[in-house]
Amino acid sequence: AKSAGGNRFELADPESDARAITRHALTTALPAALERGEFFIEYQPLVHLGDGSVRGAEALVRWAHPQHGVLGPDRFIPLAEHTGLIVPLGRWVLEGAVRQARRWQGTDTGPVRINVNVSPMQLHHPGLVADTVDILEREGLEPGALCLELTESALIGADDDLLKPLRRLAEMGVDIALDDFGTGYSNLANLRRLPVSVLKLDRSFTRGMQQYPADPVDRKIVEGIVALAHSLDLSVTVEGVETGAQADALRELGCDTAQGWFYARPGPPDRLHTLDLADAVG
Ligand code: C2E
Ligand code: CA
Ligand code: CA
Ligand code: CA
Repeated sequence: AKSAGGNRFELADPESDARAITRHALTTALPAALERGEFFIEYQPLVHLGDGSVRGAEALVRWAHPQHGVLGPDRFIPLAEHTGLIVPLGRWVLEGAVRQARRWQGTDTGPVRINVNVSPMQLHHPGLVADTVDILEREGLEPGALCLELTESALIGADDDLLKPLRRLAEMGVDIALDDFGTGYSNLANLRRLPVSVLKLDRSFTRGMQQYPADPVDRKIVEGIVALAHSLDLSVTVEGVETGAQADALRELGCDTAQGWFYARPGPPDRLHTLDLADAVG
């Protein structure tokens, strides 16, 4: 960033310039990377808090960049959203994740449901419903095995036109999850109007559960959210469960499903297949 005010010159900030150059280079490289197959998907199990069984997995995309190594989604998803490449990239992730879910079903030891993140731009794209139906049919997965995750900020304030494709998918049996719940400005009453069946409580809420007994204020908040969610027939998934104390507290508070490093980090699909959670669940 170079700027000159009158006779005064500011030095460029070399670090932010380097970051901007990298961002630009990464953005330019995205389409070819998709064509060359440099993206891959890791899976993180979703664990039922009641009985400790693996109920499903969330698909999380990564980029095996030839120069920079493996890049996490936070490095390139915003860039892909900026250029619109998120639409074909998101379709690619959906297809790969659905195919993997179908494979797991055939083995009956892997996760049975698959969660896939959908960015707001995909929701605005007219092909979302058709693409999803097409992929489910082609891969032979029933709609009820798929859960699409949209962030709270993408859905709160969305008008009816924007919600229409989600309603269509929900009517077919696809689950819709409200991701990162609690980080936006949700009007809780608004929840009723959204075609969602799952609330994913953001990691920030589970942090206060790290010590045992859990932070009393955080407890109260989670307790309230769980009560509200259940009264609206929504199930509650908690993110970022890193310790057994957190898992215990969240189970006591009535949360349904958990996800986090305590159970497993995101990893290749074959690792999930053989995952033994007996130790973690106790
Ligand atoms: P998210 O949907 O909230 O995904 C959860 C993130 O938390 C993942 O980060 C996961 O690796 C991380 N995580 C899981 N358990 C723990 C834990 O116990 N502790 C901590 N500290 N972190 C945990 P990741 O893989 O880097 O993904 C970051 C974000 O990128 C995701 O947040 C999601 O918003 C986005 N993303 C990932 N894949 C896709 C995709 O295919 N499409 C779109 N549109 N967005 C994606
Ligand atoms: Ca997610
Ligand atoms: Ca999340
Ligand atoms: Ca997040």
